[in-house]
Amino acid sequence: MTYDTNNIFAKILRGEIPNKTVLENEYVLAFHDIHPQAPVHILVIPKGAYTDIGDFGAHASEKEIAEFYRAVSQIAKDAGLTAEGYRVVANTGVNGGQDVPHFHVHIIGGEKLGSSLRRS
Ligand code: AMP
Repeated sequence: MTYDTNNIFAKILRGEIPNKTVLENEYVLAFHDIHPQAPVHILVIPKGAYTDIGDFGAHASEKEIAEFYRAVSQIAKDAGLTAEGYRVVANTGVNGGQDVPHFHVHIIGGEKLGSSLRRS
């Protein structure tokens, strides 16, 4: 898939759309989801232009990948999710229900979550 530079997360990264930032560094931006599905719902995106987890895993540098997953862990810890647990989701492609074609993971928690394998 070709990267669409007009996707909403690309616009957020360029500062064209506001976001509620949780963490930002050279490699990563994390912000609150605009339609939270749980008490804590944070999106984590790499600053590089990657369409999905496959693109990220295949083409990102080791530094980008390390910084991304380190940020996910740190954000979950800082949000107070570590003790009781949480879910990290990377919707991918049409079947995975990915709406925004810039790689991102959802960190979801703050309550007991339902099944992660629902079909709808
Ligand atoms: P996905 O379906 O995995 O691509 O998830 C995209 C997520 O982005 C959804 O949970 C949306 O609620 C969220 N979203 C869309 N636009 C914004 C925005 N401007 N700020 C924050 N979250 C957004």
